[in-house]
Amino acid sequence: MSNKNDFKNRFNEWRRKIYGNDEFGIFLLILCVVLQVIAVATMSFGIGQLFSLLSFGVLVFQIYRTFSNNKGARVAENNKFKIAFKKPSKWISDQRYYADQKKKGYTFFVCPHCGEICRVPKGKGKIKITCPKCSTTFIKKS
Ligand SMILES: [Zn+2]
Repeated sequence: MSNKNDFKNRFNEWRRKIYGNDEFGIFLLILCVVLQVIAVATMSFGIGQLFSLLSFGVLVFQIYRTFSNNKGARVAENNKFKIAFKKPSKWISDQRYYADQKKKGYTFFVCPHCGEICRVPKGKGKIKITCPKCSTTFIKKS
């Protein structure tokens, strides 16, 4: 019984020391699978080996991160990843929103003062737009 507890304690201690998984780790695992799929699909073209090697490299890096003791460096990597990943995903969702709103009869202008994007109804001719963020007014043809 005490032997079992001892193992449990050591295991928990080990779990505390290692970094474990995070968003970047999940991304690396997905990347690894994607590269492997590409590797299989391109094997007959002679470049499959390259993708297979890349996939293996990503996997090794992910395993290294998971069992790393340097939690500070891993958290910093994950934060960098989250910032880099947020930009394109926000851009895509923004484009979807604009396209949807344009269908509904709105158009968009950028505030010349603060850069805020202002939504106005389309086809109203020359209109005075008041920025909802900084209250700057500017005239535009909608
Ligand atoms: Zn503004």
